[in-house]
Amino acid sequence: MTVRIRADLDSLPGYVPGKNIPGAIKLASNEVSLGPLPSVVMAIAEAAERINRYPDNGSVELVARLAAKLGVDEDQVAVGCGSVTLCQQLIQATCTAQDEVLFPWRSFEAYPIVAHVVGATQVRVPLTAEHALDVDAMIAAVTPSTRLVFVCTPNNPTGTALRRAELERLIDAVPDDVVVVVDEAYREFVADPEVPDGVEVAKARWARGRDNVAVLRTFSKAYGLAGLRVGYLVAAAPVAAAVRKVFVPFGVNALAQVAALSSLDAEAELLARCTGIVAERGRVRAALIAAGYDVPETEANFVWLPLGERTAAFNEHCLAHKVVVRAFVGDGARVTIGTPDENDAFLAAALSFPR
Ligand code: PMP
Repeated sequence: MTVRIRADLDSLPGYVPGKNIPGAIKLASNEVSLGPLPSVVMAIAEAAERINRYPDNGSVELVARLAAKLGVDEDQVAVGCGSVTLCQQLIQATCTAQDEVLFPWRSFEAYPIVAHVVGATQVRVPLTAEHALDVDAMIAAVTPSTRLVFVCTPNNPTGTALRRAELERLIDAVPDDVVVVVDEAYREFVADPEVPDGVEVAKARWARGRDNVAVLRTFSKAYGLAGLRVGYLVAAAPVAAAVRKVFVPFGVNALAQVAALSSLDAEAELLARCTGIVAERGRVRAALIAAGYDVPETEANFVWLPLGERTAAFNEHCLAHKVVVRAFVGDGARVTIGTPDENDAFLAAALSFPR
C-alpha cells in the first residue's frame, strides 16, 4: 500500500533559498555580509553551556525587552522561529480552508507556500508598473472571505515601500475583522521619512479600537542573526494570543533568544551598520542607473532589476563572475547590498553584462 500524503502537496512550490557556492560572493538572501559582533558571539557561547535544558517556551525576557523598546505591552508581542514561522502562525490563527489570504505579487515567496500548507485560498494582487504595491487593487481584492492581508513594505524583492498616506489608506479600507499584517522585515534600512514606522501606525489604530493591525519584524536582516531564526510580531493582545496558541512548543531556541537579547544591547552598533548599507545601496543603484539599468527606488538592503526574459542570462553572467544573485526567471533579479568590495564585484559583473 502506498502511504497517503495530501494530494494537494504535489502542486506546492518549494521554497528556493539563495545558493551558497564555495568561493563565490553571496548576494542572494538579503543577509548582512558582516559577521556577528564579538559580544553576541560571546553571549551565544555562554548560553551554549546550558543547552541540555529546553529554552524558555515563552521567550519571556526577549518579549519584555521588545515590549519596552517598542512602547507596547508584553501581551502585544509574540516571538517566533523567524518571522516566516509567524507568517504561517498568522494564517493558522486566522484562516480555515477556503478562507482568503491576500498579498501583493510578486512579494515574499513564503506567503503562497504557507497559505497553501494551511489550505487557505491565495489572492495575489499584481504590483504596479513601478514595481510597488497597488493599494487600490489590494483594497478592491478584499472579499467577505478575506481573513488576512499581508502588506510587505519595503516589498521583497522589489524594495519599494509604501508612504504613510498609502499605508494608512490601505489599512483603513480593510474591514476591522480582517487582520492586516505589515511585514517590515527590512524596516531598519528605510531612509525615507515618508515611510512610516508600522508599529506607530498600528498603535494609533489600536487606540481607536481597531485591533486588526499587526507588524512583523525579524532579527535575520539588520541584526545579522539569519542563522539563528528569530522574529517577532507586534499585535493587539487578542491577535498576539491567537498567534502564540498555534506555536510549536519551544520553537525559539535558547541560543536565538540570547543572541537577540545581546543584539538589542548592541543595537546602536548594528543600526550604524545599516546606515553604511543604505549608503552603499545609493552608490550601487546610481551606478546601475548610470549604466542604463532600470532600478526601482528601494528602501531595503537590496536592489531589484526587472530584466524580464533576460534574467536567466544575467544570473548566469553573475555566476560566471562568482557573484550569486537571486533570479526570478522571466521576471527579475534581486541583489543584496553587501560590503563595498562585494558590491564592486557585483557592479563589475553587471556593467559587463551585454545590454
Ligand atoms: N518577510 C520578508 C518580507 C522577508 O523577506 C523575509 C526573509 N526573506 C521574512 C519575512 C522572513 O525572515 P525570517 O524568517 O528570517 O525572520
